[in-house]
Amino acid sequence: MNKFLLLIFSFALIGCATTEDKNTVKLFVFDCGDITVSDVSVFSPGVDKGKLKKLTNSCYLIKHPQGNLIWDTGLPDGLAKMKNGKTNGPFHLQVKNTLESQLKELGLTPKDITHLGISHFHFDHTGNANLFTKAQLFIQKAEYKAAFGKNAKKYHFSPDSYSKLDRKMIKVLNGNHDVFGDGIVTIKPAPGHTPGHQVLYLNLPEFGPLVLSGDLYHFTKNRKHKRVPSFNFDKKQTLVSMDKIEKFVKKSKAKFWIQHDKEQNQNIKHSPEYYK
Ligand SMILES: [Zn+2]
Repeated sequence: MNKFLLLIFSFALIGCATTEDKNTVKLFVFDCGDITVSDVSVFSPGVDKGKLKKLTNSCYLIKHPQGNLIWDTGLPDGLAKMKNGKTNGPFHLQVKNTLESQLKELGLTPKDITHLGISHFHFDHTGNANLFTKAQLFIQKAEYKAAFGKNAKKYHFSPDSYSKLDRKMIKVLNGNHDVFGDGIVTIKPAPGHTPGHQVLYLNLPEFGPLVLSGDLYHFTKNRKHKRVPSFNFDKKQTLVSMDKIEKFVKKSKAKFWIQHDKEQNQNIKHSPEYYK
């Protein structure tokens, strides 16, 4: 092959690779902090009283041809400056890698995030929400009323952590929502932990169906025994949601990731690696 043809051929190959890359849906997992709880029985009333447990805190990016969605925003990046972390009630919180730096590693800034999904508005999920002022927020109606109403603190929310979000950019949901209209990224309500808690269902072309379960459970043992944390908004509603989501998982044959489960989290790929 002469040099000219070789050049044309190479450009064509690069062209194909770039187009294919742009059309590929990718899921990236970020490390959004560590949580050590001094008494794990806050998550499992009456069980393992006084036992310490380490949890992880995860955030996710779904790169889709139609936009970039962040699912949960983690503990505040500001904590990375505190070498020994910070104690908040029974929780000790630490951030080693900021969410912003993990986005930067992928060549992204918070302004590139077009869609924002937050499982619920507790501080360990809204920590960096204020970074994503260009994104459309997807929130269930009951969560919206609680988080953006006058009594947000009553629900253990930290309104300062999401005060910069533009109210005009909020899409209030009443049930399931197919974010890009192709069945690949669907938000599903699972209330109880908070008034409008929700989970994310992904149907990735290669990796297949997967549920990112928010705080429906905090670790595997609680899933097995269906234990409801003492601080949940509504116990009965939580149990109904657990039942509903478990039925869905069974039917869709989805994998199930517990976002705070440290042991499970250690066995999944983290950014810059990805699932597709
Ligand atoms: Zn949480």
